[in-house]
Amino acid sequence: MRIECIAIGTELLTTGRLDTNSLWIADRLSRMGLSLHRKSVVGDDLEDMQTLFREASLRSDLVICTGGLGPTFDDLTKETWAEVLEDPLVEDPRVREDILDFYRARQHIPPESNFKQAMVPSQAQALRNGAGTAPGIYWPGTRSRPQCRVLLLPGVPLEMKQLWEQQFEPLLAPLAQQQVLTLRVVVGSTAESALDERTRPLRARHAQLSWTILASITHVELVARSSDPAALELARQDLQTLLGPDLVCAGNGSIEETVLDLLRSRGESLAVAESVTGGLIAARLTAIPGASQVFLGSAVAYSAPGKLSLLELPEELIQTHGTVSEATTRAMAEAVRRRLGSTWGLATTGNAGPTEDPLGPGALGTVFMAVAGPQNTKSIHYTFPGARSDIQSRTAAWGMDLLRRSLL
Ligand code: ATP
Ligand code: MG
Repeated sequence: MRIECIAIGTELLTTGRLDTNSLWIADRLSRMGLSLHRKSVVGDDLEDMQTLFREASLRSDLVICTGGLGPTFDDLTKETWAEVLEDPLVEDPRVREDILDFYRARQHIPPESNFKQAMVPSQAQALRNGAGTAPGIYWPGTRSRPQCRVLLLPGVPLEMKQLWEQQFEPLLAPLAQQQVLTLRVVVGSTAESALDERTRPLRARHAQLSWTILASITHVELVARSSDPAALELARQDLQTLLGPDLVCAGNGSIEETVLDLLRSRGESLAVAESVTGGLIAARLTAIPGASQVFLGSAVAYSAPGKLSLLELPEELIQTHGTVSEATTRAMAEAVRRRLGSTWGLATTGNAGPTEDPLGPGALGTVFMAVAGPQNTKSIHYTFPGARSDIQSRTAAWGMDLLRRSLL
C-alpha cells in the first residue's frame, strides 16, 4: 500500500512551527507494519493544494492530510479535496448536532462559520472529533478515484491523535495485513562505516530481512525488519556472535540503561568525575528512573583547582601531566571511586574546542576516559571530530561504553 502524508498550513513552511503530525503518523503506521512512501508540506494556497492533491490522488493508495479543517477562511482542505475528487459537500445533520452539543456543553452559541464543518462530502464519512468541532473526513475510495483512500484530520495535534486512535485505526487495521517486526541493536564505540563493513556478510546471509544502519553522535544502530519472527531471532543470534562485546543491547535500550542494568545485576555502584563532559554522564544516567540504586554521584571537576579540591588530586600530578592527560584522568577515576566509596569510578577529560588549548597537551578533540575498578584502572584516549557539543556527547557515551565493557 503506497501511503503519503500531507501537512497543510502556511505556518509549517516557516521556522515558526514544525510539522510534528506527520512524524507521529509515521510512527503509528510503522506499529501497524505500514510505512510512508512520501510526505509533503503545503501552504494554505488554493492552487498549490489543488495540484498536490490531484497528484497524490493519482499516485497513492492512501493520502493522509492534517490541518486546514477549521472554520476560518484559510481552512480549505476539505473543500479542495471535494473538488479534486468531484464529490459535492452536503450538510450532515449528525455533525451539526455534534457542533451544537460541543458549544452547549460550554454554554456558548456557535458562530455561524462553525457550521461549515457540518458540510461533509457525499461519498465520505465524517469521523467524530472528541476534542474539537472539526470532524475528520474519510473517503474509502470515490467514483472518480476508486483506488485512492483519503483521510483528512484536524491540524491540532491533540485532536488529530484522538481521531486517529479512536476512529481511524479500526478502519485501517484490516488493510494492514501483516505485522512487521523490528530488530534493533545498539553498537557502542564504533564508526558507522566500520560497522557497515563488518556486518556486510551477515546482512548478505540474512538478505530476506530489510536492513538499515543509523549513526548518531553517541552510538550506531543496526535495524532489521521482517514479518517473520524466527528470521529476526536468527539474525539477532548471529549479530550477538559477530559483535560480541561491541553489542550494547538489542531492543529499545541505550548505553546508559545497559550500564545501570549491569551494575544492578552485579550489586555494584558507580561514581563519576567529569571534566570535559561537564555533568553530561550524570545527566544521562539520572534521566533513567531508579538510577540512584547504583549511581552514587558525579563531581564536575572542570578546572584545575576544581580537580585539586573536589578530588584531592596532588598538585604535582597536574603540574607534571596537565589536566588533559591519561595520568590525570586515571587519578580522577580512582579518586572519585575512593571518595564516594563506589565499586567503579569513571572519569573524562579532554579539549572539546573550539580552539586548541595553549596550556594543555590536548589537541582539539583529544579526550581521555578512565575506569577504575576493584582490580585495576583502564584508560583510553581518542581524537574526536566535530563541534564542541558533539565531542562532549560522544565522550560521555564512549566513556559509559568503556565502563560497560569492564562490567562484562
Ligand atoms: P482549527 O479548527 O483549530 O483551525 P485546523 O484543522 O484548521 O484546526 P490548523 O488551523 O491548520 O488546523 O492548525 C491548528 C493548530 O495545529 C495550529 O496551532 C497549528 O500550528 C497546529 N498544526 C497544524 N498542522 C500541524 C502539524 N502538521 N504538526 C504540528 N502542528 C500542527
Ligand atoms: Mg485552522
